[in-house]
Amino acid sequence: MKKGFRFASLVSTLLVLSLLITTAASAFTLYGKKLIGGVKDRTYWVDNPTYIFKDSDGTYKAINYGTYIDIAVQNWNNSVNNENKFERTTDVYFTKAKDRASATVIFTVAEYGNTGWDGKTFFFKDGVNVAGQSEAPTKDYDKVTIGINVSLTYKTEDHYKVSLAGHEFGHALGLDHFSGGPPYSLMNKYVSNAPFGPTADDVTGVQKIYSK
Ligand SMILES: [Zn+2]
Repeated sequence: MKKGFRFASLVSTLLVLSLLITTAASAFTLYGKKLIGGVKDRTYWVDNPTYIFKDSDGTYKAINYGTYIDIAVQNWNNSVNNENKFERTTDVYFTKAKDRASATVIFTVAEYGNTGWDGKTFFFKDGVNVAGQSEAPTKDYDKVTIGINVSLTYKTEDHYKVSLAGHEFGHALGLDHFSGGPPYSLMNKYVSNAPFGPTADDVTGVQKIYSK
């Protein structure tokens, strides 16, 4: 797992650098709504981080989704525009909450079944879902829940699980789906061709949302 992470991280770095060199235009899409109170010094929580299943050989196996989610959030926390100076370009800074109730973003890892989605983000204001039938928030929101569907993802590669969690987290921050590419964004509707972590364009989108 560590080897895969380091390799994918390098690929992601190269992709970000190539984006900086080759593209000037922004392609991110915003919901136009945002997290009330901003993204600085916020917390997240993971329900049921360890998924245990019976494999085809009859043995029980455990997948720690919490690890992939932690990496995905850390990728957002570490979003930078200068790898050498490590200058942070966003105020995104999420740490693990001390309990579920105090968390701003709650991941729920569960067997949702054959839903057609691997991950889904829900937006709340004062406990009321503000997305209605559509996935996009219709108001600014104070809490987000993210469903991670283990039924459809437990056999995917490590980097895909990280991309998936990072993609849903991008929605939580206020990014809609990216349409365009190549180069592709973490916010592609279909994560299979998405990079490992947020691209420079994804970061610019979040900066724009929380710049004022
Ligand atoms: Zn999405």
